[in-house]
Amino acid sequence: MANVISRRGFLKSSLVAGAALGLGFYDSKKLSVNNRFDTIISNGLIYTGDGKAPIKGAIGIKEGKIAAIGSIGDSADRIIDAKGNAISPGFIDIHSHTDGNIFISPLGDSKIYQGITTDISGNCGDSSFPKGKWNSVEDYYNDIKKQRAGFNVRSYIGQGTLRQVVVGDNNVPATAAHMKEMKSLLAAEMERGAVGMTCGLEYTPGSYATTEEIIELLKVVAKYDGLFAIHMRNEDDRVEEAVAESISMAKAAGVRLQISHLKAQNANNWHKAPQLIKQIEAASREGLDIAFDRYPYIAFSTGLSVFIPMQERQGTTDEIIARLNNETSAKAIGEYAVARIKRLGGAQNVVVTSARVPENKRFIGLNIEECCKLTGLEPWPFIRKLLVEERVSVDMIGFAMREENVKLFLSHPLGMPITDAGASSPIGKLSENMPHPRAYGSFPRFLGKYCRDEKLMDLSKGIQKCTSLPASRLKLKDRGLLTVGYQADIVVFNPDTIIDRATFAEPHQFSAGIEHVLVNGVWTIKNGVATGDLGGVIA
Ligand SMILES: [Zn+2]
Repeated sequence: MANVISRRGFLKSSLVAGAALGLGFYDSKKLSVNNRFDTIISNGLIYTGDGKAPIKGAIGIKEGKIAAIGSIGDSADRIIDAKGNAISPGFIDIHSHTDGNIFISPLGDSKIYQGITTDISGNCGDSSFPKGKWNSVEDYYNDIKKQRAGFNVRSYIGQGTLRQVVVGDNNVPATAAHMKEMKSLLAAEMERGAVGMTCGLEYTPGSYATTEEIIELLKVVAKYDGLFAIHMRNEDDRVEEAVAESISMAKAAGVRLQISHLKAQNANNWHKAPQLIKQIEAASREGLDIAFDRYPYIAFSTGLSVFIPMQERQGTTDEIIARLNNETSAKAIGEYAVARIKRLGGAQNVVVTSARVPENKRFIGLNIEECCKLTGLEPWPFIRKLLVEERVSVDMIGFAMREENVKLFLSHPLGMPITDAGASSPIGKLSENMPHPRAYGSFPRFLGKYCRDEKLMDLSKGIQKCTSLPASRLKLKDRGLLTVGYQADIVVFNPDTIIDRATFAEPHQFSAGIEHVLVNGVWTIKNGVATGDLGGVIA
């Protein structure tokens, strides 16, 4: 167990931490004697989120904020006994795909049950606005406020969405008028509280933007000190070039950079991981504000449409389906798909995880090899049929990464864990799909498997990566640390038992060891079970 420092030592270190944060220090005596707290979490091992050793003590909460830490008496409306467990800031998922799912699962079941109290949507170039139901990030936030949510929400604006709305679905250059409109929309969204802009350069239509076009947009993001998060143009054979492009775009625009779900995909690229780290470290040394994130699994999750070449993914869904139905174009697409499956190590490495057509639901959870046995089809004819019947929208999981690289990325000081998944739920509509288990298990797996069992780092450093590190990237002013004056987003977990339970075969499993979760002081998970109260706000 990590060392426990003395009360005097704690006060000294908290003064330093408080001063560093510009908060000044608190008078614990005044707070403990004169204030009655709404809630006290007592008898815990407090990890403040700054990476330092934990201290024994209690936390007093008043009006949704942390009001005192240390020996604070017992004057409160309710007392939560932490029973010696770890008390940590709530986890912050800087790379989420919750987006519209929050309206299907307001609690955000798969997230809140793993201790995530702040969830950042709009990743990989795709945001829920300004399109369809929501004209702006403000509309999206307002609907969440009206409905209420289990965790705090923020969103990036997706560059792919922006291009779709202004330029359209095709591979055409943006005109001067397009650029002007995209920049003004982007500026407006930054004003309204988007945390930055994301790219998903393996997806259409965002990928049709040139490097120069993206740099022009990033200059707007830089003006607001927003964050640029990028799902790079390539994550396998040309991943080094893609990292170099990401860095050069951020440098040219003067924007802070977050490389999303860093990976070196396919066995022939596994050896490249240390080189990617070298590129990132060099950029950091040269003064670029850069970091990256990664989910703690060796399988990735995406759409089966990645087996269609980018150029053939242009236009409307009907146009794409027409190409799949045309024998000549389908033959060329098939050659691309077969080559890509080969690079992934074979059809057994690709698992179908969603289907809406009733007859296709039997494929959910099976790999392509198994689907082929069941249907008597070869891999490409099977994939082609499925894409046509499902109107191009099929989710898949691919096993294509190496454990050693997961550890390399997660243990690096600039790396942090993410889910790269939307909120899911074992009940209702969201229970019908087979999400990647990362939707349920990422943070407990990182702390339990990687920090505790495999000793990648001590728990204090692990918690820092789940809390203050992402908060600092997002410039969240009052989250990510247990400090007086900060919002009371708090997780109480058992450091000896915390672990993921979700598997690829049975993903809808909550993690073990999460005892209590508070969001802005609202007790949301009590003794491992949801209370039904929702405390989330726009972070
Ligand atoms: Zn992505």
